[in-house]
Amino acid sequence: MRIHVAEHPLIAHKLTALRDRHTDSPTFRRLADELVTLLAYEATRDVRVAPLDVETPVAPARGVRLAAPKPLVVPILRAGLGMLDGMVRLLPTAEVGFLGMVRDEGTLIASTYATRLPDDISDRQCYVLDPMLATGGTLVAAIRLLAERGARDVTAICLLAAPEGIAKMEKELEGHPLPVTVVTAAVDDHLNEHGYIVPGLGDAGDRLYGVV
Ligand code: URA
Repeated sequence: MRIHVAEHPLIAHKLTALRDRHTDSPTFRRLADELVTLLAYEATRDVRVAPLDVETPVAPARGVRLAAPKPLVVPILRAGLGMLDGMVRLLPTAEVGFLGMVRDEGTLIASTYATRLPDDISDRQCYVLDPMLATGGTLVAAIRLLAERGARDVTAICLLAAPEGIAKMEKELEGHPLPVTVVTAAVDDHLNEHGYIVPGLGDAGDRLYGVV
């Protein structure tokens, strides 16, 4: 598994504002959206392209276009939805699947309550959107599911990651043939006893959508 921490002053600036407890939901949503677009730029470095010849007004030019099959973007509900617009802004032709996953706040174990994915995702490059890589349970379950359906590779885009979650993913996915990359804006200090990232930014779903 490869971890890429995207280091850029604009990313650090937006992340700091997201962390701030005084940032209200509308501002939080806008900043998350902008931050995801910046992370998506890093995450799509290896997106597959095919050669394409075009005519400029001056001369023929050799270029590229996204190759088939189209990339698949998979937000993990609920909080991953807040990352979708920022991602498809960069990849407007990608298809979108959905995974509803929730973690039990007592056991911290993730379970799946909704799946809306193409049956066959053979050879597809998948981009999973989950703002907080905390215990790692949700991402491991999502990646296993995508691997079973034939994904070619999976890139997880997370606003923040905890060292414990990264370690769990490395352990659980060790020896797994599927190439996995995590792109994040920062790796924080630790997880607290409630499974929250410290210093983190709190509950990403609540900060995006309010407490429901
Ligand atoms: N999920 C969140 O929304 N925040 C955390 O800190 C950990 C998991």
